[in-house]
Amino acid sequence: AKADGRGSCRVFEPAMGVQALERRELEFDLRQALLNDEFELHYQPIYNLAEQRFTVCEALVRWRHPRRGLLGPGDFISVAEEMGLIVDIGKLVLKRACLECALWPEDVSVAVNISPLQFRRGDIVTSVAEALEGAALRPSRLELELTESVLLQDVAFTSLTMKLLHMRQVAISLDDFGTGYSSLSYMNELPLSKVKIDRSFLAGIEKANKAMLMLRGLTRLSAELGLSVVIEGVETETQLELITAATQVQMVQGYLFSRPLPGEEVRKILRDEREE
Ligand code: C2E
Ligand code: CA
Ligand code: CA
Ligand code: CA
Repeated sequence: AKADGRGSCRVFEPAMGVQALERRELEFDLRQALLNDEFELHYQPIYNLAEQRFTVCEALVRWRHPRRGLLGPGDFISVAEEMGLIVDIGKLVLKRACLECALWPEDVSVAVNISPLQFRRGDIVTSVAEALEGAALRPSRLELELTESVLLQDVAFTSLTMKLLHMRQVAISLDDFGTGYSSLSYMNELPLSKVKIDRSFLAGIEKANKAMLMLRGLTRLSAELGLSVVIEGVETETQLELITAATQVQMVQGYLFSRPLPGEEVRKILRDEREE
């Protein structure tokens, strides 16, 4: 509330609408959430078509809100980013994800989403090293997912940081590929291992040939740059058939294979898969 200039304070200022109040409450709750340990991770297995099993699981943060139930990242990540809290949340996510991955079969890696702020202001190289050490995890079992927007800001810093991570054997994927301002020239220079093609590219492939051409083009370009490719958001058998008929893609992620699951369920799936 703003002071009105005569020493009193108007708490319910007309200008402060419902939205502003909700936003304040969310900010307050987010700070509490870190203190009260309310964040948890779910893991979505990514299917390797060549090996016919799950070889990576992506960590996806959830918030067990005391009143509102289980919230997805869409409900809070952007506010956490604006508040700067994403840096601490991100460190926690890295730590937890590495501890969880240490419980999986040796040939399965974990992929962790890194927000732009965490990448630039979060001592990312140090927090990655600490998370790996804390879990005694081989660095090659950790992948970081960065979006295109990260690559475009402060190219010198980005490039150096990525090289430091790469030297430590931590792989970097380009997330949501095709949705941002693609910088194809950088893609060649930065130490990227993988691109994840955004699920929006699957949208029309059953009906429109153009959509299929786009998907095929992106996949081919990535492969020619020496990158491995994941197609995100595969929901139907038809989509999978079209993808495998038209591309050489090796990895697919989506509800068709598995939804994001709590750690104990993922552990069981990975173990069962290797015992058959
Ligand atoms: P993303 O990195 O693109 O993650 C994939 C999102 O697509 C996840 O949503 C996942 O549940 C969803 N998804 C997977 N398969 C399918 C499918 O077949 N169909 C559909 N419709 N959706 C599918 P989620 O968990 O809600 O996460 C949303 C976004 O929030 C993520 O998008 C990522 O950008 C961000 N995020 C999640 N966890 C973290 C985190 O720990 N740190 C940061 N910085 N961002 C995170
Ligand atoms: Ca991701
Ligand atoms: Ca993505
Ligand atoms: Ca996405």
